Amino acid sequence: MKDDCIFCKIAAGKIPSSTIYEDSHFRVFLDINPLTKGHCLIVPKEHFTNIYDLDAETAGKVFTLATLISRALKNVLKCDGLNVIQNNELLAGQSVFHFHMHLIPRYKGDGLIFMGEQKPGDMEEIGKIRDLLREELQ
Ligand code: AMP
Ligand code: ZN
Repeated sequence: MKDDCIFCKIAAGKIPSSTIYEDSHFRVFLDINPLTKGHCLIVPKEHFTNIYDLDAETAGKVFTLATLISRALKNVLKCDGLNVIQNNELLAGQSVFHFHMHLIPRYKGDGLIFMGEQKPGDMEEIGKIRDLLREELQ
């Protein structure tokens, strides 16, 4: 537990939250500034800053839990879609530096846009990036 981390405190139950699910590893609670009805956050109880330092076991458990919570959101709120968003570092919109995954139910006409218009890429550049990343991942 990191003393100056709000999500460590929420996960430990030291700060109240609208919790919808809790087990020994995770707390899932409704976002206090919801983008849509049912916007919630999956938060591991252990402190990880972001995806770069998340361990493989926790990463797997996060996604397994995401399937369970997503089905509950669909069943209860009858949403028309659902986005999974996970922000890392300030530039990408991370504002709480304790790893968390957003589950954002979507509704017809909600007007949210997460990915702008996509255009065909430069295949030469895509090829160079592919080679660099394959080398890194060997
Ligand atoms: P991010 O920008 O990806 O770091 O997301 C942080 C999220 O945490 C935002 O959507 C905030 O609205 C949400 N948030 C911050 N403080 C609280 C809190 N005390 N309870 C519930 N959600 C919170
Ligand atoms: Zn923390």
